Amino acid sequence: MSSYSYISHLECSFCGTEYKADSNIQICASCEHPLFVRYDLATMKKSISRDALADRPQNFWRYHELLPVLHQENIVSMNEPFSPIIKLSESGSDMGITRLFAKDEGVLPSGTFKARGASIGVSKAKEIGVRAIGIPTNGNAGAAWALYAAKAGIPITVVMPNTAPVTPQKECLIAGANLYVIDGTIADAGKTLSHIIDADSWYDVSTLKEPYRLEGKKTMGFEIAEQLGWKVPDVIVYPTGGGAGVIGIYKAFQELQELGWLEKRMPRFVVVQASGCAPLVRAYDRGDLFSEEWQNPETIAFGMRVPKALGDYLILDVIKQTHGIAISVNDRAIQAERENVVRKDGLHASPEGAAGIAGVRKLRSQGWIRPDDTVLVMNTGSGLKYTDQITAKPKAFSYSTT
Ligand SMILES: *Cc1c(COP(=O)(O)O)cnc(C)c1O
Ligand SMILES: [Zn+2]
Repeated sequence: MSSYSYISHLECSFCGTEYKADSNIQICASCEHPLFVRYDLATMKKSISRDALADRPQNFWRYHELLPVLHQENIVSMNEPFSPIIKLSESGSDMGITRLFAKDEGVLPSGTFKARGASIGVSKAKEIGVRAIGIPTNGNAGAAWALYAAKAGIPITVVMPNTAPVTPQKECLIAGANLYVIDGTIADAGKTLSHIIDADSWYDVSTLKEPYRLEGKKTMGFEIAEQLGWKVPDVIVYPTGGGAGVIGIYKAFQELQELGWLEKRMPRFVVVQASGCAPLVRAYDRGDLFSEEWQNPETIAFGMRVPKALGDYLILDVIKQTHGIAISVNDRAIQAERENVVRKDGLHASPEGAAGIAGVRKLRSQGWIRPDDTVLVMNTGSGLKYTDQITAKPKAFSYSTT
């Protein structure tokens, strides 16, 4: 008989200390680095084949054996669809790439990939009996968690910079979240949270400050593998802030490979950051293992405005292991690419997704991406979340009926 989840234990991603599965521990007690959820893949491999997935509904939970929730009744889901992979034919031919694709996360609840971490994170929070959730955010994570927490009936406090786009603020408010805005960055929002709510009674779901949210990000990797017929592209491009997306997709591929479900080859991972906030690019260029906090981060791609990622060493390691690269693009290139891809291919990308595509253009012009590479860019969110950045004005027209 197969299990609903093959979760076995938690393991520190830095020092390897192991912890019991199902505890509500947040980070490693001995070194304070992020924890990974580990699964008994050897047993799972003997009990279930990938063909078992074929008849399951297309939502995140079709991968339940590789997710941390033990009991189906704790699942908080909105029957999320597979996000489509679409060919960017015109943009690709413009750059000289035959196979350029985007995975469009804009179709998910709240319009970004943050729904993934929210669904799995809120479900697990419900399972371990969390009574209140707190989250610092640049906006989109707060919006997604507000929805799933509402559905689960768990109170949530969200803190975001007062410069965050309007849409995610409104999304939090309509969903009944307790929303605070502050003068500062997402790092300051994290510090503020601990002053707003009483330390003992809430669960901090900041990126990588608990192990379960990352497990939701893995579903991107599972979907990519399945959608491409259990193969991987040559290059995956990710607009990166906290980096959970990169770490999650890589972890998903590793697990699938260990199960023998996925071809044993890794794509080259490309981390794209905005030139006004590029701590990972700076660390990559210097060959450092950790990043340094970026002072005065500034970019229109708000989801990537993270001055220092808690999992920086993990992201830099994924780049190294896969012979990838980290590069930055400026806001002007991001804005130009956002217009370009919607006008050429009909994809209304978020500025983050557009940053990824601008990164592809740059790497193609440098020859790092070859014309025959299969390239997959994550459009991490819908452009509809950023209509306030569109400055063009409609034409006025009036006519007289006399
Ligand atoms: C959060 C966010 C990102 C950055 O993702 P990380 O996993 O934190 O690196 C990129 N794009 C959008 C739209 C986001 O909301
Ligand atoms: Zn540790």
